[in-house]
Amino acid sequence: MLHAKLSASGAKKWINCPLSVVLESKMPNEETPYAKEGTLAHELSELKLRRELNLIGKEAYDTEVSKLDYDDEMDKYTDYYCDVVMEIVNKYDRNYSTVRLEEKVDFSPWVPEGFGTSDVIIISDNTAEVVDLKYGKGVKVSADNNPQLMLYALGVLNDYNYICDIKEVNLTIVQPRLDSISSFKINVYDLLEWGETIRVKALKAFNGEGDCVVGKHCDDGFCRARPICKAYADERLKIAKYDFKDPAELSADDIADILGTVDELVRWSKTIKDYALTKALSGEEYKGFKLVEGRSNRTFNIDDSKVLEILKGGGFKESEVCETTLKSLSSLEKMIGKKDFKTMLGSHVIKPMGKPTLVPIDDVRPVYNSAVNDFNNI
Ligand code: SF4
Repeated sequence: MLHAKLSASGAKKWINCPLSVVLESKMPNEETPYAKEGTLAHELSELKLRRELNLIGKEAYDTEVSKLDYDDEMDKYTDYYCDVVMEIVNKYDRNYSTVRLEEKVDFSPWVPEGFGTSDVIIISDNTAEVVDLKYGKGVKVSADNNPQLMLYALGVLNDYNYICDIKEVNLTIVQPRLDSISSFKINVYDLLEWGETIRVKALKAFNGEGDCVVGKHCDDGFCRARPICKAYADERLKIAKYDFKDPAELSADDIADILGTVDELVRWSKTIKDYALTKALSGEEYKGFKLVEGRSNRTFNIDDSKVLEILKGGGFKESEVCETTLKSLSSLEKMIGKKDFKTMLGSHVIKPMGKPTLVPIDDVRPVYNSAVNDFNNI
């Protein structure tokens, strides 16, 4: 698939950090399992919507769907997404509206060589709808002033306004696995004004000018340049240069400060280690380090069934050499089905207290009450 140098999905990064385009171009761009999963969910959703909109017959739909390797969970979540899309589609008179799926939009008047593919576009009267499926469940994405969807919206104006008179655009992001539907309405004047501010930033990023600017966009945008970005490293290493007031002992406030950043530091350290290992395997040398073989355990070089055969031949019974373990609660529930599982085992399901853990104050979970928990555990 052809990718734009300044992609709409990466807009948060290049708008905030113009040099990210240059740095990311130096890193391998391999498709992650999450990206593969997202692509599959998009393919399945597109087919389901085509069927809903009568753009594909039942037979062709069944044939196409049977080629996709998805599970029940994806089936359920894509159903949810398609229901949301159809609700939006049905807001408008079908005789006077247009629905486009996986439509390529051109926003190059604002962003050099800028184009992207919008999941769903609906145009009716003076309104355009842009709907986007986010299959990930790591970071909740808001539609409020979302640059990716606003670029798609500019593309819609560019591609369709010569035949329509769009005055308002509704942007919607559906994140079914987080049970999240986020919407944002913007009028065309504000959108075009935003486009003007973007034009300058896009040119800078396209020309590889400006600086690396660290912010939420580095992690939220999964910047591939994190292992090599000096600005990102400086930010993460601030904790190591912490200016403690009392050099002999850390105060509770010092520890609270460290707790606030330690997870980021650990994540970044892992990113650096993974990156350095990949580079070392392809010949890069790091002063003071060498590649060695890691620890490994002895194992058989034949199938378990063959091992069993040999053992039985040696006079051992199957029950003596094999262990049977019960499947996990979730696997059993999935296998039996929620309803039957509840009937058979529902009264035996408990939820033990979780281990106490320190989290930032804005975490939604209630505060751990050690007195109550001590009492419950007696
Ligand atoms: S890690 Fe952050 S600061 Fe560094 S290039 Fe990426 S977006 Fe820019």
